[in-house]
Amino acid sequence: MIVKLKKQLFNFYVYTGIIFLLPLVLFFFYAVYVELQFFLFLFLGLLALIFYLIPLQKRLQTKYAEKQLHVQNLYEGINVIEAEIVQEEISIEALKDKVVNYAHLKDVTERLSRCLYCEETSKVLCSEVEVFFGRQDRTIILYLFHSKTGALGLSSSRKGQMRINIKSKNGDIFDQWVVKNMQPLLIEDTKMDYRFDAEKVIDEDVRPIRSLISVPLMVRNKALGILRIDSPHENDFKTEDLRFLSTISDIGALAIENAQLYERVEQLAIRDGLTNLYLRRYLMKRLPEEISRKIRREKPLSFVIFDLDYFKDYNDKFGHIAGDIVLKTIAMELSSFFHEPGSLICRYGGEEFCVLLPDVSKEEAFDMANQLRQKISEKTIILRREKTRITVSAGVASFPGDAKLKDELIAKADQALYRAKKKGRNRVCAA
Ligand code: GH3
Ligand code: MG
Ligand code: MG
Repeated sequence: MIVKLKKQLFNFYVYTGIIFLLPLVLFFFYAVYVELQFFLFLFLGLLALIFYLIPLQKRLQTKYAEKQLHVQNLYEGINVIEAEIVQEEISIEALKDKVVNYAHLKDVTERLSRCLYCEETSKVLCSEVEVFFGRQDRTIILYLFHSKTGALGLSSSRKGQMRINIKSKNGDIFDQWVVKNMQPLLIEDTKMDYRFDAEKVIDEDVRPIRSLISVPLMVRNKALGILRIDSPHENDFKTEDLRFLSTISDIGALAIENAQLYERVEQLAIRDGLTNLYLRRYLMKRLPEEISRKIRREKPLSFVIFDLDYFKDYNDKFGHIAGDIVLKTIAMELSSFFHEPGSLICRYGGEEFCVLLPDVSKEEAFDMANQLRQKISEKTIILRREKTRITVSAGVASFPGDAKLKDELIAKADQALYRAKKKGRNRVCAA
């Protein structure tokens, strides 16, 4: 059936072809033998048309290629715009985080401004940094310069909401770099950073450090310390993190400076400017507290007053400035001798010093005072290349044996001192 249909179709095409071609063939023979001129004209016309169509086709091809290129360029443009949109979306997300972080900075400033003391400020600063950057494996460390020695010292540290013990109390090679350059530092990978010898990192065996950010704490070109965060993973911090840590450190530095000033003012109020010992006012405040504590614990408390012998003569002979040097020297001797925690040494008056010794009996206090008296009497103080000497007399009284009240205890020690003076000075007397 299908074969038959095919044969019929074939016949249809053959007959149609013959029907169309036959007039053409007849026309061709007629043109050649009868109208040669018309045929030639037709042929030349066709030729001219062909010659006109070839460049036209080439131009069309070029146009087509150009269009293709344009379409390709458009696609490339679309790709670039899509990539830019993705980038913009990432930037918007980062910006949102930034806005949130900067809003938190207000809270940080408020929290830090409530701190009065340096230790408290350091702890709050580290915990606030932890809020922004904290992760279980990251370590936050705050180092501060010692006000007197200028050495860098560990002030506070945290790791994953916990306080952590840091081995390098004075900083490692990275901290030394920040101290030297006073610039923020970002290390993406400690093993790849040519500036540092990773083997030298002291803590490496205990706490591996692969990346870190560190900034100096600066106030008006004055360096107060270093704030840093380190991580055991490489590439854990970005430039943006370093920038944000710098902002926090600026706020932190101001808070720390305020706390240091507050502590200094407080110290000035309770310490003597010449000898740096506590003032009599502070002793008078502490003495009743100490007495009531000893009553509760049934422990002794001794009180010793030292007075420089013939100090007026010393001043007259060597001058007031020389006298001040002697007072400072004696203050240092007292501080190094009574170094036990809890001992309270103060400048009681002009050339009088006193020491409060908790948990020390009268006999022990007497021995101690005598040892110090001996030490001072043997000490040579060189003033303008001249060797000078000074002696002290001391009076000892104890709680509860000699007195039950503050004033009584002081009076008893004073009376003992008076007796020591009377007996010829350079000696210790007990109440
Ligand atoms: P004594 O052995 O009886 O204690 O004799 P003294 O000369 O030490 O006693 P006095 O109380 O008569 O003199 C104390 C002197 O201490 C008088 C004053 O010139 C001196 N003095 C008090 N405060 C200071 C001070 O801050 N610096 C100096 N350089 N001298 C002081
Ligand atoms: Mg005196
Ligand atoms: Mg004196």
